Amino acid sequence: MSGEDDLRVIASEVRACTACKLHLSRKKAVPGEGPANADYMFIGEGPGFHENEQGRPFVGAAGKFLEELLAGIGLSRDQVFIGNVVKCRPPGNRDPLPEEIHACSGYLERQIQAIQPKVIVTLGRYSMARFFPNARISDIHGQGRTVNGRLVVAMYHPAAALHQPSLRRDIESDFAKLPSLVARAQSQQPSSDKPPDAAQQLTLF
Ligand code: URA
Ligand code: SF4
Repeated sequence: MSGEDDLRVIASEVRACTACKLHLSRKKAVPGEGPANADYMFIGEGPGFHENEQGRPFVGAAGKFLEELLAGIGLSRDQVFIGNVVKCRPPGNRDPLPEEIHACSGYLERQIQAIQPKVIVTLGRYSMARFFPNARISDIHGQGRTVNGRLVVAMYHPAAALHQPSLRRDIESDFAKLPSLVARAQSQQPSSDKPPDAAQQLTLF
């Protein structure tokens, strides 16, 4: 199966999923979207009001800001994969619960395996915690780190950054650095005959 086929299968499973209580209150599940050959994968927290209505990720105000940030580095949203830690809206936009994140994590893992992106950008704390469980976002945002051989960069959530001038400056400068982080990570790739240690977590730059 191709990566596109894998993503289609995952999306249809998500739309039928009843593995956590969030399925009871969702209108539309939001599997995520973007091409299977995307270099960049952005992972937010979970669907909000508009995403739940439309079944698409980041279509509200935060999504508009994310599109502006992407445009700043020459990317449009159809060139990148955009997804979330949980695929169904937490009621009233409350934080996702640990058991909901756990129930949903297999879908995100399979999406990562299907896409094999050059970089994963986490948006907000819940997405960051999947890769850096004990980190503080104020300490590590914008830094390139490898997790299991892949570049992962944590950033503030665009919804938070949109209305807070200091966070907005941070996310704008973190985005501006992304292309050079990706280029440097690519040039430092370990040779394929030496696979990275499974537990490896390195700060590159
Ligand atoms: N916020 C998120 O974290 N994800 C979305 O899809 C929309 C808003
Ligand atoms: Fe299934 Fe994830 Fe939706 Fe829960 S949030 S019902 S695990 S798709």
